[in-house]
Amino acid sequence: MKRTADIQYDSRIEGDLVVTRLDAAINWFRKNSLWPMPMGLACCAIELMATGGSRFDISRFGAEVMRFSPRQSDVMIVAGTVTYKMALVVRRIYEQMADPKWVIAMGACASTGGMYRSYAVLQGVDRLVPVDVYVAGCPPRPEALLDALIRLQNQIRREPVLKVWKQPPPEKPLHRDS
Ligand code: SF4
Repeated sequence: MKRTADIQYDSRIEGDLVVTRLDAAINWFRKNSLWPMPMGLACCAIELMATGGSRFDISRFGAEVMRFSPRQSDVMIVAGTVTYKMALVVRRIYEQMADPKWVIAMGACASTGGMYRSYAVLQGVDRLVPVDVYVAGCPPRPEALLDALIRLQNQIRREPVLKVWKQPPPEKPLHRDS
């Protein structure tokens, strides 16, 4: 039985032309060329490094180009415990990244402070920067980070390209609330 797809491309009719919406094309470029800023702060960073290995092949998602400069990155992966000592450094690096930019909180510590309910640890990096995807686990496996990447790609696919970009919460003194 002949099946007809909702959207199809017939080279005999369309030739070398593909018609699409501008925001669909721009979001397609963006979601398939994410350049991560590896914000490795503790043990979760080891799993982040493992994700870059050949076994997991992060290149399938176009995200293998880890940058160590915020000006060349568009997705910050916060992997590890965010201490108060590091908190403002994380925020400064986030602010140096150009829009559009996204944040993945990798692991229990980055998401909530994890088991460190202590005076030295920030209880979640979302108190500093807007987080798009949280990854559970202590530590999460590389597959979990890849799953977060796919979720972020799905989010980017639906974003309006002319939106006003999220701003981080206004600067205010960090309170130690342990
Ligand atoms: S979530 Fe677990 S593995 Fe990750 S930084 Fe915290 S203690 Fe380490």
